[in-house]
Amino acid sequence: MTFPFLELATVNAPFMEEIQKRVAGVIASGRYVGGPEIDEFEENLARLTGARFAVGVSNGLDALRLILRAYVAMGVFPPGGEVIVPANTYIASVLAISDAGLVPVLAEPSAATSNLDLDRLEEYLSPKTCAVMPVHLYGRVCFSGALEEFARRNSLRIIEDNAQATGASTMTPDRGRVMTGNLGDAAGFSFYPTKNIGALGDAGAVTTNDADLARMVRALANYGSDRRYHNIAEGFNCRLDPVQAAVLNVKLPWIDRENSYRRKIAETYIREISNPAVMLPLLPGDAGEMVWHQFVVHTADRAAFTAWLEKNGVGWDSHYAVPPHLQPCYLGSGKIVSPHPLTVTERLAHTCVSLPVTRCTTVEDARTISGIINRYTTG
Ligand SMILES: *Cc1c(COP(=O)(O)O)cnc(C)c1O
Repeated sequence: MTFPFLELATVNAPFMEEIQKRVAGVIASGRYVGGPEIDEFEENLARLTGARFAVGVSNGLDALRLILRAYVAMGVFPPGGEVIVPANTYIASVLAISDAGLVPVLAEPSAATSNLDLDRLEEYLSPKTCAVMPVHLYGRVCFSGALEEFARRNSLRIIEDNAQATGASTMTPDRGRVMTGNLGDAAGFSFYPTKNIGALGDAGAVTTNDADLARMVRALANYGSDRRYHNIAEGFNCRLDPVQAAVLNVKLPWIDRENSYRRKIAETYIREISNPAVMLPLLPGDAGEMVWHQFVVHTADRAAFTAWLEKNGVGWDSHYAVPPHLQPCYLGSGKIVSPHPLTVTERLAHTCVSLPVTRCTTVEDARTISGIINRYTTG
């Protein structure tokens, strides 16, 4: 590939020297679970998001599972409670809900943004609804005054799936500019290696302003133990590894620089691609609302388009070609609910193509790739 989709060694190269020093420190310390790197990471993430509490955990799926299971353990959510979630998300959002003994209610996204349509949430409400899980898909903030109002009116919790939008922010009606991870009642983060800030393995975190929730999440991630040999709930082992915390302590301070870089590449595509067969993502009016975890275009004949990209040395991916409700684990399982046919979701899944938008792509590359795309014809 002349233009690789993503090569993690390239992404991490600028941080390697510092990472090696920090990781060597963890190895020499003799402290391999918990410890100062974890504390520092949690402080760093709380400071970045503005949330009062941050709890480092094993990965993004566990972050979401722990939030939902904590609300169940605290008696806030009844078993079988419903959680409204976009149907076109990575399956982890949905897995977290069904894992906690709750019911994912799959909602159609807005075709314009690929995010949950926040003006149509009423349609998914039932007496069993206990939460909404907006997913900031591709790094685009999914939040509005209407969502807050809907949640308040119906006593619902807002749980952000912030796996793809670390460092994004939006203007809120009451609180001015707020970072993702501090918009709702709780948020799950992923630092999987391919995310905007990635560890060198699995890592995740939960943020919240709710002291009780933070305490329960921390306990559940540590065998349900709130202090040594005292178990308040049947928990798990979902702790963040201090080696990964050390990596994240090196990379997290650079989140704005990394996101700005992605913005520059995305803006180049939007300026340069002019092929009517390729539908571009919307450029938000407020640049902070999009951190371009993926740059996703839509095209009717994906097979022909991606064959053209490959022939010209352009790497690509599809996020996500098969939506959760069509996966074998959920198909016909009775474990998910979808009040409406998921036509928009399925159309987006059939037509989405992600273009390279990371440090592996230069502005010059993005110009060349745009030219290749402009020469694509539908035959
Ligand atoms: C990556 C991702 C997750 C899961 O995170 P992991 O760290 O891979 O477990 C959850 N939701 C979304 C939207 C994601 O992109």
